[in-house]
Amino acid sequence: MTRPTPPRGLHHITAIAGDPSENLHFYQQVLGMRLVKKSVNQDDPATYHLFYADGDGNPGTDITFFPWAHAQPGTPGVGVVERTLLTVPPASLPYWRQRLESQGVRTEAPRAHFGEPTLAFSDPHGLALALVEAEDPFTFTPWRASPVPAEHQIRALHGARVPVRELDPTRRFLEDVMGFVHLAEEDGWHRFVLRGARGLDAEGVERGSAGAGHLLDLREAPGEARGAWGVGSVHHLAWTVDDADHQVRLRDAVASAGRRPSEIIDRFWFQSVYFMEPGGVLFELATKGPGFSVDEDPEALGERLILPPWLEGHRTQIEAALPDLGPAAVSEPRA
Ligand code: ZN
Repeated sequence: MTRPTPPRGLHHITAIAGDPSENLHFYQQVLGMRLVKKSVNQDDPATYHLFYADGDGNPGTDITFFPWAHAQPGTPGVGVVERTLLTVPPASLPYWRQRLESQGVRTEAPRAHFGEPTLAFSDPHGLALALVEAEDPFTFTPWRASPVPAEHQIRALHGARVPVRELDPTRRFLEDVMGFVHLAEEDGWHRFVLRGARGLDAEGVERGSAGAGHLLDLREAPGEARGAWGVGSVHHLAWTVDDADHQVRLRDAVASAGRRPSEIIDRFWFQSVYFMEPGGVLFELATKGPGFSVDEDPEALGERLILPPWLEGHRTQIEAALPDLGPAAVSEPRA
């Protein structure tokens, strides 16, 4: 079988948060990301789905949350993302460390991982994050109204670190089906990067620091218990596919590998397929388009509650069931 073209990198990462107004404050006012879509969980419309990204909501820049204020905290362990990595411009970590500490966010001392300067901290609900200095992997549009100056703004999703009970099954799946290559090993972490990432040559050989936005770091942890989703954990990692055709070809390859992918689901701003990789992490394949401005003026992204067309008829009940997001969400500050 010919191998399908690999995904084009990360599309979005979705995580579970606690209180939605605290989540909004942290990602918008502390990390300076734009709320590009305020919607609801399509499977649980009494819960928000909040999307933070760059100024235009470009694919690969987007971290999204289901705020379940009353859910249990997540349990770390194999099959659950241990830390989510975000790309920031080279030489911006001193700015970020000072900014985060001044806002009461405790940071670890910056250190290099796979040669990249990395600043680790957690969001208010325990989601482990790190800012990593690297070149922009994707199209990036600064958010003009951000409290963070454009030259320091978060550029993209960088990658994720995941402990797995056994490395080999996930490794074979990543390499044979998803089109990753094994790049390096450091301190027990194995770095995998999608073919086609910047900094790789045709054979997938590294040229310097490579792969921002296309990375998955795995650590084999045979003795660790299975982790569990909850507040502060990543729910799934979504990878970008070009279009419906690309999605079908990858979905077929995933099915041939015995991973039982879902049907193609219309998420309105993109089309999605879900499946578990062998290590227990939920993956999604999401199309590049049509994107977040399909139903909103790009200038006004995130300002009003957006519902997919099939939920629009229930707007009154849905709005009544959702918690107030507080003054931060009344309108976006303008540059
Ligand atoms: Zn998703």
